[in-house]
Amino acid sequence: MDLPWYSMLPQRAYQRQLAEPFPEPVWVHFNTSLADEVAISVSQNAEGLNILSAAEPLQGYESLSTAYSGHQFGVFNPSLGDGRGLLYSQWLDATGQPWELHLKGTGRTAFSRHGDGRAVLRSSIREYLGSEAMAALRIPTTRALSLVCSNKLKVQRERLEPAAILGRVARTHVRFGHFEYFFYRGDRQGLDALRDWLFEYHYPQLYQHRTEPETLLAFLQVQVRQLAELIAAWQAVGFAHGVMNTDNMSIMGDTLDYGPFGFLNAYQPQWVCNHSDHQGRYAFDQQPQIAYWNLLCLAQTFVHWAPPTALQKVVDQFPELYRQAYLKRMRSKLGLLSSQPEDAKLITDWLAILADVQADYSLSFRALLGVEGQHPLVLADYVAPSKTVDDWLDAYQQRLGNDASTASQRWQLLKQNNPAYILRNYLAQQAIERAEQGDFSEVDRLFHALQHPYDEQGRFW
Ligand code: AMP
Ligand code: MG
Repeated sequence: MDLPWYSMLPQRAYQRQLAEPFPEPVWVHFNTSLADEVAISVSQNAEGLNILSAAEPLQGYESLSTAYSGHQFGVFNPSLGDGRGLLYSQWLDATGQPWELHLKGTGRTAFSRHGDGRAVLRSSIREYLGSEAMAALRIPTTRALSLVCSNKLKVQRERLEPAAILGRVARTHVRFGHFEYFFYRGDRQGLDALRDWLFEYHYPQLYQHRTEPETLLAFLQVQVRQLAELIAAWQAVGFAHGVMNTDNMSIMGDTLDYGPFGFLNAYQPQWVCNHSDHQGRYAFDQQPQIAYWNLLCLAQTFVHWAPPTALQKVVDQFPELYRQAYLKRMRSKLGLLSSQPEDAKLITDWLAILADVQADYSLSFRALLGVEGQHPLVLADYVAPSKTVDDWLDAYQQRLGNDASTASQRWQLLKQNNPAYILRNYLAQQAIERAEQGDFSEVDRLFHALQHPYDEQGRFW
Protein backbone atom coordinates (compact mmCIF):
# COMPACT_ATOMS: atom_id res chain seq x y z
CA MET A 1 0.00 0.00 0.00
CA ASP A 2 1.22 3.47 -0.83
CA LEU A 3 1.21 6.08 1.86
CA PRO A 4 0.19 8.86 2.09
CA TRP A 5 -3.15 7.74 0.77
CA TYR A 6 -4.39 11.23 0.09
CA SER A 7 -2.16 11.34 -2.95
CA MET A 8 -4.66 8.91 -4.51
CA LEU A 9 -7.26 11.65 -4.45
CA PRO A 10 -7.46 14.57 -6.88
CA GLN A 11 -5.39 17.59 -5.87
CA ARG A 12 -8.54 19.64 -5.18
CA ALA A 13 -9.35 17.35 -2.24
CA TYR A 14 -6.50 18.59 -0.07
CA GLN A 15 -3.78 21.13 0.42
CA ARG A 16 -0.24 20.29 1.44
CA GLN A 17 0.82 22.68 4.14
CA LEU A 18 2.85 23.26 7.26
CA ALA A 19 1.66 24.33 10.68
CA GLU A 20 2.00 27.88 11.93
CA PRO A 21 4.72 28.28 14.59
CA PHE A 22 3.69 27.17 18.08
CA PRO A 23 5.96 28.95 20.57
CA GLU A 24 7.30 27.37 23.78
CA PRO A 25 5.44 24.06 23.70
CA VAL A 26 5.18 22.01 26.89
CA TRP A 27 3.72 18.56 27.51
CA VAL A 28 0.31 18.36 29.10
CA HIS A 29 -0.06 14.61 28.59
CA PHE A 30 1.13 11.72 26.45
CA ASN A 31 -0.77 8.45 26.03
CA THR A 32 2.03 5.88 26.11
CA SER A 33 -0.21 2.83 25.98
CA LEU A 34 -2.02 4.14 22.87
CA ALA A 35 1.32 4.84 21.18
CA ASP A 36 2.24 1.18 21.77
CA GLU A 37 -1.18 -0.07 20.72
CA VAL A 38 -1.16 1.66 17.33
CA ALA A 39 2.61 1.34 16.80
CA ILE A 40 3.35 5.00 16.21
CA SER A 41 7.03 5.86 16.43
CA VAL A 42 6.86 8.88 18.68
CA SER A 43 7.57 9.15 22.40
CA GLN A 44 7.41 11.63 25.24
CA ASN A 45 10.84 13.14 24.66
CA ALA A 46 12.25 16.31 23.10
CA GLU A 47 11.87 14.98 19.57
CA GLY A 48 8.31 13.85 20.31
CA LEU A 49 7.49 17.33 21.59
CA ASN A 50 8.78 18.86 18.37
CA ILE A 51 6.70 16.50 16.28
CA LEU A 52 3.51 16.75 18.31
CA SER A 53 3.68 20.54 18.46
CA ALA A 54 3.95 20.39 14.66
CA ALA A 55 7.44 21.93 14.45
CA GLU A 56 8.85 18.97 12.55
CA PRO A 57 7.31 16.16 10.50
CA LEU A 58 6.96 12.54 11.55
CA GLN A 59 9.19 10.36 9.37
CA GLY A 60 9.11 12.75 6.44
CA TYR A 61 5.32 12.78 6.05
CA GLU A 62 4.13 15.96 4.33
CA SER A 63 1.27 17.33 6.38
CA LEU A 64 -1.94 18.39 4.69
CA SER A 65 -5.44 19.69 5.29
CA THR A 66 -8.45 18.07 3.64
CA ALA A 67 -11.61 19.51 2.13
CA TYR A 68 -15.06 18.47 3.27
CA SER A 69 -18.60 19.81 3.35
CA GLY A 70 -21.43 19.09 5.75
CA HIS A 71 -24.94 19.66 6.96
CA GLN A 72 -24.61 21.92 10.00
CA PHE A 73 -27.78 22.05 12.11
CA GLY A 74 -29.64 20.76 9.06
CA VAL A 75 -28.26 23.34 6.62
CA PHE A 76 -25.77 22.39 3.91
CA ASN A 77 -22.41 24.16 4.03
CA PRO A 78 -20.25 23.32 0.99
CA SER A 79 -17.04 24.86 2.34
CA LEU A 80 -15.76 23.26 5.49
CA GLY A 81 -12.59 21.20 5.78
CA ASP A 82 -9.67 20.98 8.17
CA GLY A 83 -9.69 24.61 9.21
CA ARG A 84 -7.65 24.18 12.35
CA GLY A 85 -5.85 20.89 12.01
CA LEU A 86 -3.54 18.88 9.79
CA LEU A 87 -3.32 15.29 8.77
CA TYR A 88 0.16 14.72 10.11
CA SER A 89 1.02 11.10 9.53
CA GLN A 90 -0.29 7.80 8.22
CA TRP A 91 1.14 4.37 8.94
CA LEU A 92 0.29 0.70 9.18
CA ASP A 93 0.54 -1.29 12.40
CA ALA A 94 1.89 -4.87 12.56
CA THR A 95 -1.49 -6.29 11.53
CA GLY A 96 -1.63 -4.04 8.45
CA GLN A 97 -4.28 -1.76 9.97
CA PRO A 98 -3.90 1.81 8.67
CA TRP A 99 -3.83 4.64 11.19
CA GLU A 100 -3.83 8.43 10.94
CA LEU A 101 -2.46 11.12 13.23
CA HIS A 102 -4.28 14.44 13.04
CA LEU A 103 -2.90 17.43 14.92
CA LYS A 104 -5.71 19.76 16.00
CA GLY A 105 -4.94 23.42 16.69
CA THR A 106 -1.99 23.92 14.32
CA GLY A 107 -3.10 27.30 12.95
CA ARG A 108 -4.76 28.57 9.83
CA THR A 109 -5.11 26.36 6.75
CA ALA A 110 -6.47 26.77 3.24
CA PHE A 111 -9.84 25.72 4.69
CA SER A 112 -10.10 28.12 7.63
CA ARG A 113 -12.45 30.76 6.36
CA HIS A 114 -12.92 32.44 9.70
CA GLY A 115 -11.04 31.77 12.86
CA ASP A 116 -7.45 31.50 13.91
CA GLY A 117 -7.02 27.79 13.30
CA ARG A 118 -6.19 27.27 16.95
CA ALA A 119 -7.56 25.04 19.69
CA VAL A 120 -7.65 26.14 23.31
CA LEU A 121 -6.34 24.15 26.26
CA ARG A 122 -9.83 23.96 27.80
CA SER A 123 -11.56 22.16 24.92
CA SER A 124 -8.46 20.11 24.13
CA ILE A 125 -8.42 18.69 27.67
CA ARG A 126 -12.12 17.89 27.31
CA GLU A 127 -11.50 16.01 24.05
CA TYR A 128 -8.40 14.27 25.42
CA LEU A 129 -10.15 12.95 28.53
CA GLY A 130 -13.54 12.49 26.87
CA SER A 131 -12.32 10.34 24.00
CA GLU A 132 -10.11 8.20 26.24
CA ALA A 133 -13.00 7.76 28.69
CA MET A 134 -15.19 6.56 25.80
CA ALA A 135 -12.53 4.10 24.66
CA ALA A 136 -12.33 2.64 28.16
CA LEU A 137 -16.14 2.33 28.11
CA ARG A 138 -15.72 0.17 24.97
CA ILE A 139 -17.41 2.76 22.74
CA PRO A 140 -15.96 3.28 19.23
CA THR A 141 -14.09 6.58 19.17
CA THR A 142 -11.14 8.49 17.82
CA ARG A 143 -8.30 8.35 20.35
CA ALA A 144 -6.14 10.95 22.03
CA LEU A 145 -2.40 10.45 21.78
CA SER A 146 -0.91 13.70 22.98
CA LEU A 147 -1.65 17.11 24.35
CA VAL A 148 0.78 20.01 24.34
CA CYS A 149 0.16 23.61 25.23
CA SER A 150 2.04 26.81 24.63
CA ASN A 151 3.63 28.77 27.45
CA LYS A 152 3.40 31.84 25.28
CA LEU A 153 0.58 31.71 22.74
CA LYS A 154 -2.84 32.79 23.91
CA VAL A 155 -5.94 32.89 21.72
CA GLN A 156 -9.05 34.97 22.02
CA ARG A 157 -12.32 33.23 22.72
CA GLU A 158 -14.83 34.62 25.22
CA ARG A 159 -11.65 35.29 27.18
CA LEU A 160 -7.96 34.98 26.35
CA GLU A 161 -7.02 31.30 26.66
CA PRO A 162 -3.85 29.21 26.34
CA ALA A 163 -3.42 27.57 22.92
CA ALA A 164 -2.97 23.81 22.68
CA ILE A 165 -2.42 21.10 20.09
CA LEU A 166 -4.16 17.76 20.44
CA GLY A 167 -2.73 14.65 18.75
CA ARG A 168 -5.70 12.60 17.60
CA VAL A 169 -5.46 9.07 16.25
CA ALA A 170 -8.10 7.32 14.15
CA ARG A 171 -8.24 4.56 11.58
CA THR A 172 -9.31 7.36 9.29
CA HIS A 173 -10.75 10.83 9.78
CA VAL A 174 -12.96 10.54 6.67
CA ARG A 175 -16.37 11.97 7.48
CA PHE A 176 -19.78 11.80 5.81
CA GLY A 177 -18.89 15.38 4.80
CA HIS A 178 -16.01 14.18 2.59
CA PHE A 179 -18.54 12.32 0.43
CA GLU A 180 -20.83 15.34 0.42
CA TYR A 181 -17.95 17.55 -0.71
CA PHE A 182 -17.44 15.67 -3.98
CA PHE A 183 -21.10 14.90 -4.53
CA TYR A 184 -22.39 18.47 -4.31
CA ARG A 185 -19.60 19.76 -6.54
CA GLY A 186 -20.67 17.24 -9.17
CA ASP A 187 -17.17 15.76 -8.95
CA ARG A 188 -17.83 12.17 -9.92
CA GLN A 189 -14.15 11.39 -10.38
CA GLY A 190 -13.35 12.62 -6.86
CA LEU A 191 -16.23 10.65 -5.41
CA ASP A 192 -15.07 7.45 -7.12
CA ALA A 193 -11.50 8.03 -5.97
CA LEU A 194 -12.63 8.52 -2.36
CA ARG A 195 -14.66 5.30 -2.50
CA ASP A 196 -11.79 3.36 -4.05
CA TRP A 197 -9.28 4.52 -1.48
CA LEU A 198 -11.60 3.91 1.46
CA PHE A 199 -12.48 0.40 0.32
CA GLU A 200 -8.90 -0.55 -0.45
CA TYR A 201 -7.63 0.48 2.98
CA HIS A 202 -10.58 0.04 5.29
CA TYR A 203 -13.17 -2.23 3.66
CA PRO A 204 -10.91 -4.56 1.63
CA GLN A 205 -13.65 -7.18 1.31
CA LEU A 206 -15.61 -4.65 -0.79
CA TYR A 207 -12.75 -3.52 -3.01
CA GLN A 208 -12.87 -6.08 -5.81
CA HIS A 209 -16.50 -5.44 -6.76
CA ARG A 210 -16.44 -1.78 -5.78
CA THR A 211 -18.33 -0.49 -8.82
CA GLU A 212 -21.30 -2.83 -8.43
CA PRO A 213 -24.51 -1.44 -6.89
CA GLU A 214 -24.74 -4.40 -4.47
CA THR A 215 -21.33 -3.49 -3.08
CA LEU A 216 -22.38 0.09 -2.40
CA LEU A 217 -25.58 -1.11 -0.79
CA ALA A 218 -23.52 -3.46 1.39
CA PHE A 219 -21.26 -0.54 2.32
CA LEU A 220 -24.26 1.58 3.26
CA GLN A 221 -25.56 -1.34 5.30
CA VAL A 222 -22.28 -1.36 7.23
CA GLN A 223 -22.70 2.36 7.89
CA VAL A 224 -26.26 1.86 9.12
CA ARG A 225 -25.31 -1.01 11.42
CA GLN A 226 -22.22 0.74 12.72
CA LEU A 227 -24.10 3.90 13.54
CA ALA A 228 -27.01 2.02 15.13
CA GLU A 229 -24.48 0.31 17.43
CA LEU A 230 -22.67 3.57 18.17
CA ILE A 231 -25.78 5.58 19.03
CA ALA A 232 -27.12 2.72 21.15
CA ALA A 233 -23.85 2.82 23.08
CA TRP A 234 -24.15 6.61 23.51
CA GLN A 235 -27.74 6.40 24.74
CA ALA A 236 -26.96 3.54 27.11
CA VAL A 237 -24.02 5.31 28.73
CA GLY A 238 -25.73 8.72 28.72
CA PHE A 239 -23.42 10.49 26.28
CA ALA A 240 -24.61 13.55 24.36
CA HIS A 241 -22.41 14.57 21.42
CA GLY A 242 -23.81 18.06 21.03
CA VAL A 243 -22.95 18.73 17.35
CA MET A 244 -24.07 15.81 15.22
CA ASN A 245 -23.48 17.62 11.93
CA THR A 246 -22.63 15.36 8.99
CA ASP A 247 -19.09 16.76 8.96
CA ASN A 248 -18.69 15.31 12.46
CA MET A 249 -19.85 11.81 11.48
CA SER A 250 -17.05 9.30 11.01
CA ILE A 251 -17.18 6.82 8.13
CA MET A 252 -15.68 4.26 10.56
CA GLY A 253 -18.55 4.63 13.04
CA ASP A 254 -16.29 6.29 15.62
CA THR A 255 -17.34 9.06 17.97
CA LEU A 256 -15.63 12.04 16.32
CA ASP A 257 -15.05 15.73 17.09
CA TYR A 258 -15.60 16.25 20.78
CA GLY A 259 -16.92 19.77 21.33
CA PRO A 260 -19.66 20.69 23.78
CA PHE A 261 -20.31 17.00 24.55
CA GLY A 262 -21.44 15.84 27.96
CA PHE A 263 -22.39 12.83 30.05
CA LEU A 264 -25.77 12.92 31.76
CA ASN A 265 -25.82 13.71 35.42
CA ALA A 266 -29.51 13.75 36.39
CA TYR A 267 -31.55 11.77 33.88
CA GLN A 268 -33.14 14.43 31.69
CA PRO A 269 -33.90 12.83 28.32
CA GLN A 270 -34.27 16.21 26.61
CA TRP A 271 -30.96 17.52 27.87
CA VAL A 272 -29.16 19.88 25.44
CA CYS A 273 -25.45 20.02 26.22
CA ASN A 274 -24.63 22.53 23.47
CA HIS A 275 -25.54 26.03 24.65
CA SER A 276 -25.71 27.35 21.08
CA ASP A 277 -28.25 24.66 20.09
CA HIS A 278 -31.28 26.82 20.82
CA GLN A 279 -33.79 24.55 19.07
CA GLY A 280 -32.55 21.45 20.88
CA ARG A 281 -31.85 19.73 17.56
CA TYR A 282 -29.09 17.69 19.19
CA ALA A 283 -30.81 17.02 22.50
CA PHE A 284 -29.85 13.72 24.12
CA ASP A 285 -33.06 11.93 23.16
CA GLN A 286 -32.93 13.20 19.56
CA GLN A 287 -29.63 11.49 18.75
CA PRO A 288 -31.07 8.30 17.18
CA GLN A 289 -33.37 10.36 14.95
CA ILE A 290 -30.51 12.64 13.90
CA ALA A 291 -28.27 9.66 13.13
CA TYR A 292 -30.98 8.37 10.79
CA TRP A 293 -31.23 11.79 9.12
CA ASN A 294 -27.44 11.91 8.71
CA LEU A 295 -27.46 8.46 7.10
CA LEU A 296 -29.97 9.76 4.56
CA CYS A 297 -27.51 12.58 3.76
CA LEU A 298 -24.76 10.03 3.21
CA ALA A 299 -27.00 7.77 1.10
CA GLN A 300 -27.82 10.77 -1.09
CA THR A 301 -24.16 10.91 -2.16
CA PHE A 302 -24.37 7.27 -3.36
CA VAL A 303 -27.07 7.86 -6.00
CA HIS A 304 -24.59 7.59 -8.88
CA TRP A 305 -23.71 4.15 -7.65
CA ALA A 306 -26.98 2.49 -6.64
CA PRO A 307 -30.72 3.06 -7.18
CA PRO A 308 -32.20 5.62 -4.75
CA THR A 309 -35.07 3.38 -3.70
CA ALA A 310 -32.66 0.58 -2.77
CA LEU A 311 -30.50 3.07 -0.83
CA GLN A 312 -33.53 4.38 1.02
CA LYS A 313 -34.51 0.84 1.94
CA VAL A 314 -31.14 0.19 3.52
CA VAL A 315 -31.23 3.40 5.56
CA ASP A 316 -34.76 2.54 6.67
CA GLN A 317 -33.35 -0.43 8.55
CA PHE A 318 -31.79 1.99 11.01
CA PRO A 319 -34.70 2.34 13.49
CA GLU A 320 -35.03 -1.42 13.97
CA LEU A 321 -31.28 -2.04 14.15
CA TYR A 322 -30.96 0.78 16.65
CA ARG A 323 -33.86 -0.56 18.73
CA GLN A 324 -32.26 -3.98 18.93
CA ALA A 325 -28.81 -2.62 19.73
CA TYR A 326 -30.23 -0.35 22.43
CA LEU A 327 -32.27 -3.14 24.02
CA LYS A 328 -29.19 -5.36 24.09
CA ARG A 329 -27.15 -2.70 25.87
CA MET A 330 -29.91 -1.87 28.34
CA ARG A 331 -30.54 -5.52 29.17
CA SER A 332 -26.89 -5.83 30.09
CA LYS A 333 -27.17 -2.69 32.21
CA LEU A 334 -29.95 -4.42 34.13
CA GLY A 335 -27.87 -7.58 34.48
CA LEU A 336 -30.12 -9.61 32.19
CA LEU A 337 -28.60 -12.43 30.17
CA SER A 338 -31.60 -13.61 28.18
CA SER A 339 -34.07 -11.65 26.11
CA GLN A 340 -37.76 -11.55 27.06
CA PRO A 341 -40.64 -9.66 25.44
CA GLU A 342 -41.35 -7.72 28.66
CA ASP A 343 -37.80 -6.28 28.81
CA ALA A 344 -38.62 -3.17 26.79
CA LYS A 345 -41.30 -2.22 29.32
CA LEU A 346 -39.04 -2.97 32.26
CA ILE A 347 -36.43 -0.61 30.80
CA THR A 348 -38.93 2.13 29.93
CA ASP A 349 -40.48 1.98 33.39
CA TRP A 350 -37.08 2.26 35.07
CA LEU A 351 -36.13 5.25 32.90
CA ALA A 352 -39.47 6.89 33.68
CA ILE A 353 -38.70 6.57 37.40
CA LEU A 354 -35.22 8.07 36.93
CA ALA A 355 -36.66 10.95 34.89
CA ASP A 356 -39.38 11.53 37.44
CA VAL A 357 -37.06 11.84 40.43
CA GLN A 358 -34.20 13.36 38.34
CA ALA A 359 -31.91 10.60 39.56
CA ASP A 360 -28.26 10.50 38.63
CA TYR A 361 -28.28 8.36 35.48
CA SER A 362 -25.03 6.44 35.89
CA LEU A 363 -25.07 5.95 39.64
CA SER A 364 -28.71 4.80 39.76
CA PHE A 365 -27.81 1.96 37.44
CA ARG A 366 -24.60 1.28 39.31
CA ALA A 367 -26.57 1.15 42.56
CA LEU A 368 -28.45 -1.90 41.24
CA LEU A 369 -25.31 -3.72 42.36
CA GLY A 370 -26.44 -2.89 45.89
CA VAL A 371 -29.81 -4.52 45.17
CA GLU A 372 -28.14 -7.68 43.90
CA GLY A 373 -25.54 -8.03 46.66
CA GLN A 374 -22.96 -6.32 48.81
CA HIS A 375 -22.01 -2.93 47.42
CA PRO A 376 -21.20 0.48 48.91
CA LEU A 377 -23.82 2.23 46.74
CA VAL A 378 -27.30 2.24 48.21
CA LEU A 379 -30.10 2.61 45.68
CA ALA A 380 -32.25 4.66 48.03
CA ASP A 381 -29.52 7.35 48.07
CA TYR A 382 -30.10 7.87 44.34
CA VAL A 383 -33.71 6.89 43.77
CA ALA A 384 -36.04 7.96 46.56
CA PRO A 385 -38.15 5.00 47.77
CA SER A 386 -41.81 5.01 46.71
CA LYS A 387 -44.56 2.58 45.84
CA THR A 388 -43.67 2.93 42.12
CA VAL A 389 -40.04 2.11 42.84
CA ASP A 390 -41.01 -0.86 45.03
CA ASP A 391 -43.33 -2.20 42.33
CA TRP A 392 -40.61 -1.83 39.74
CA LEU A 393 -38.09 -3.59 41.97
CA ASP A 394 -40.55 -6.46 42.46
CA ALA A 395 -41.01 -6.80 38.70
CA TYR A 396 -37.23 -6.58 38.26
CA GLN A 397 -36.54 -9.31 40.83
CA GLN A 398 -39.14 -11.49 39.19
CA ARG A 399 -37.57 -10.95 35.78
CA LEU A 400 -34.10 -11.74 37.16
CA GLY A 401 -35.59 -14.94 38.57
CA ASN A 402 -36.64 -15.97 35.04
CA ASP A 403 -33.07 -15.72 33.81
CA ALA A 404 -30.97 -18.85 33.87
CA SER A 405 -28.10 -16.78 35.25
CA THR A 406 -26.20 -17.23 38.49
CA ALA A 407 -25.96 -14.41 41.01
CA SER A 408 -22.29 -13.96 40.16
CA GLN A 409 -23.03 -13.71 36.42
CA ARG A 410 -25.60 -11.01 37.12
CA TRP A 411 -23.18 -9.20 39.38
CA GLN A 412 -20.50 -9.22 36.66
CA LEU A 413 -22.92 -8.04 34.00
CA LEU A 414 -24.10 -5.16 36.16
CA LYS A 415 -20.56 -4.22 37.08
CA GLN A 416 -19.19 -4.40 33.56
CA ASN A 417 -21.99 -2.36 32.01
CA ASN A 418 -22.61 0.37 34.56
CA PRO A 419 -19.63 2.67 35.00
CA ALA A 420 -18.85 4.05 38.43
CA TYR A 421 -16.90 6.84 36.76
CA ILE A 422 -17.74 9.01 33.79
CA LEU A 423 -16.24 12.35 32.72
CA ARG A 424 -18.61 14.74 34.43
CA ASN A 425 -18.31 18.34 33.32
CA TYR A 426 -17.29 19.62 36.73
CA LEU A 427 -14.45 17.11 36.90
CA ALA A 428 -13.13 18.18 33.52
CA GLN A 429 -13.51 21.78 34.69
CA GLN A 430 -11.37 21.19 37.80
CA ALA A 431 -8.63 19.67 35.67
CA ILE A 432 -8.85 22.58 33.21
CA GLU A 433 -8.58 25.26 35.89
CA ARG A 434 -5.48 23.65 37.37
CA ALA A 435 -3.95 23.08 33.94
CA GLU A 436 -4.40 26.73 33.07
CA GLN A 437 -2.23 27.46 36.14
CA GLY A 438 0.43 25.08 34.79
CA ASP A 439 -0.49 22.10 37.00
CA PHE A 440 -1.35 19.08 34.84
CA SER A 441 -1.59 16.55 37.68
CA GLU A 442 -5.40 16.53 37.73
CA VAL A 443 -5.48 15.77 33.99
CA ASP A 444 -3.26 12.79 34.68
CA ARG A 445 -5.27 11.65 37.71
CA LEU A 446 -8.56 11.77 35.77
CA PHE A 447 -6.95 10.11 32.77
CA HIS A 448 -5.92 7.13 34.91
CA ALA A 449 -9.19 6.93 36.85
CA LEU A 450 -11.22 6.94 33.62
CA GLN A 451 -9.16 4.07 32.24
CA HIS A 452 -10.95 1.82 34.76
CA PRO A 453 -14.52 3.10 34.82
CA TYR A 454 -15.99 -0.15 36.10
CA ASP A 455 -13.74 -0.58 39.15
CA GLU A 456 -14.33 1.22 42.42
CA GLN A 457 -11.39 3.48 43.14
CA GLY A 458 -12.33 5.08 46.42
CA ARG A 459 -14.81 7.92 46.38
CA PHE A 460 -17.67 8.15 43.91
CA TRP A 461 -17.90 11.40 42.01
P1 AMP B 1 -16.06 21.98 14.49
O1 AMP B 1 -16.97 22.91 15.21
O2 AMP B 1 -14.77 21.73 15.21
O3 AMP B 1 -16.71 20.71 14.07
O4 AMP B 1 -15.64 22.74 13.15
C1 AMP B 1 -16.52 23.11 12.13
C2 AMP B 1 -15.71 23.74 11.02
O5 AMP B 1 -15.14 24.99 11.46
C3 AMP B 1 -14.54 22.91 10.53
O6 AMP B 1 -14.38 23.13 9.15
C4 AMP B 1 -13.37 23.47 11.32
O7 AMP B 1 -12.13 23.26 10.68
C5 AMP B 1 -13.72 24.96 11.36
N1 AMP B 1 -13.16 25.61 12.57
C6 AMP B 1 -13.50 25.40 13.84
N2 AMP B 1 -12.78 26.18 14.67
C7 AMP B 1 -11.93 26.88 13.91
C8 AMP B 1 -10.92 27.85 14.17
N3 AMP B 1 -10.62 28.26 15.42
N4 AMP B 1 -10.25 28.37 13.11
C9 AMP B 1 -10.55 27.98 11.86
N5 AMP B 1 -11.48 27.07 11.55
C10 AMP B 1 -12.18 26.53 12.54
MG1 MG C 1 -15.97 19.20 13.23
